[in-house]
Amino acid sequence: MSHVFPRHCHAEMPTAVGGEGVFLIDSQGNRYLDGSGGAAVSCLGHGDREVTDAIKAQLDRLAFAHTGFLTSEPAEALADLLIEHAPGDLDRVYFVSGGSEATEAAIKLARQYWVEKGQPQRSRLIARRQSYHGNTIGALSAGGNEWRRQQFGPLLLDVSHIAPCYEYRERGDGETAEEYGLRAAEALREEILRLGPDTVMAFMAEPVVGATAGAVPPAPGYFQRVREICDEYGILLILDEVMCGMGRTGSLFACEQDGVAPDILCIAKGLGAGYQPIGAMLCSKAIYDTIASGSGFFQHGHTYIGHPVATAAGLAVVRAILDRDLLPQVRKKGASLQQALEARFGQHPHVGDIRGRGLFRGIELVEDRATKAPFDPSRKIAARLKKAAFARGLICYPMSGTIDGKHGDHVLLAPPFIISDAEIGMLTDRLAAAMEDVLGSDS
Ligand code: PLP
Repeated sequence: MSHVFPRHCHAEMPTAVGGEGVFLIDSQGNRYLDGSGGAAVSCLGHGDREVTDAIKAQLDRLAFAHTGFLTSEPAEALADLLIEHAPGDLDRVYFVSGGSEATEAAIKLARQYWVEKGQPQRSRLIARRQSYHGNTIGALSAGGNEWRRQQFGPLLLDVSHIAPCYEYRERGDGETAEEYGLRAAEALREEILRLGPDTVMAFMAEPVVGATAGAVPPAPGYFQRVREICDEYGILLILDEVMCGMGRTGSLFACEQDGVAPDILCIAKGLGAGYQPIGAMLCSKAIYDTIASGSGFFQHGHTYIGHPVATAAGLAVVRAILDRDLLPQVRKKGASLQQALEARFGQHPHVGDIRGRGLFRGIELVEDRATKAPFDPSRKIAARLKKAAFARGLICYPMSGTIDGKHGDHVLLAPPFIISDAEIGMLTDRLAAAMEDVLGSDS
């Protein structure tokens, strides 16, 4: 009997024993095409020798040094490399072990920043209803995904959730994408004014929404207007790129494509590419200087922050993304994937929308294409599709979510950046077969 506490208590899962390129292999020798990179993690694919060699070399040199006493060479080098390529005036990197730790750290840093600026009344966070910021209790309070939150209410933080930027469902008839983007951003201003501007510490959002909604990109101009609104009321902008960052959308940081720079940026997943658990929070010089010239101490920390082996892995991953020129590849292959999905599912009666950026793509599943009516949750479409795809040798990321009490199903695709055209074809074939298994002859 297994003593592992699995996520799904009754799931019978094969044992993974190997990984090669875009494939994972189980103990029976079955090969699964990793069409979602796990959860948008494995950006370099499996078995990347440069990364594993870097990890081994670091282990041989130094496995651990507590950051309360010492820094380490890979942590310093990775911070420098990230800042060299980071947008705006992001200037400092705080390493953590994953995405939830990055968003938790961001929330605490924003709070401490205002306390040290002598404005402790700025304690409120605004986030969006269509969002996921992690599973620790603070990060969960920030996220808007109802089904993940429901058992843990009343949660901890003073967070209000505003409407997302969700063109597929919210853009009005006759409204251009740009007009919608500006209108959607005004929800932030309304909420700031409702709460009182000087009680708000920060607005937190994912540039391209991942797990809650399946790669929903912002409408044009949305984030630029959000940035303007934050600046107008002196509120910090925290962008959560845990899923959409590190090249996934075709630029190292997703927000580059929207022409905005946040005050705090969270990354994880693709930073370690699955080779090591690592995340990071980048913050502006102004925030760092406030803490440095105030208490001089960020009141936060975990034992494994800035871990030498994890940062050595992150360094090898970021170097691989840049040195192998993978970002143009992500844009090119992302366009091929979008085309393949449109060719295969563009007229599918249960596909409402196919969207995304780079190799971060989402398919929204609906009961009725014309009315956009979602499936009844009791049909458990996402869960069934995940199982059917797996049986067909495809790992993809179907999820259901609830926003404002309304249910929705979608499939997230985030294959490794090294996926070939033939493998993109295999991915769409296997997904089509799984859709047919679940949705029958309608496929
Ligand atoms: N933020 C976003 C946007 C995410 O997608 C996730 C995970 O899916 C997290 C935060 C939490 O990251 P982790 O699971 O590494 O704690």
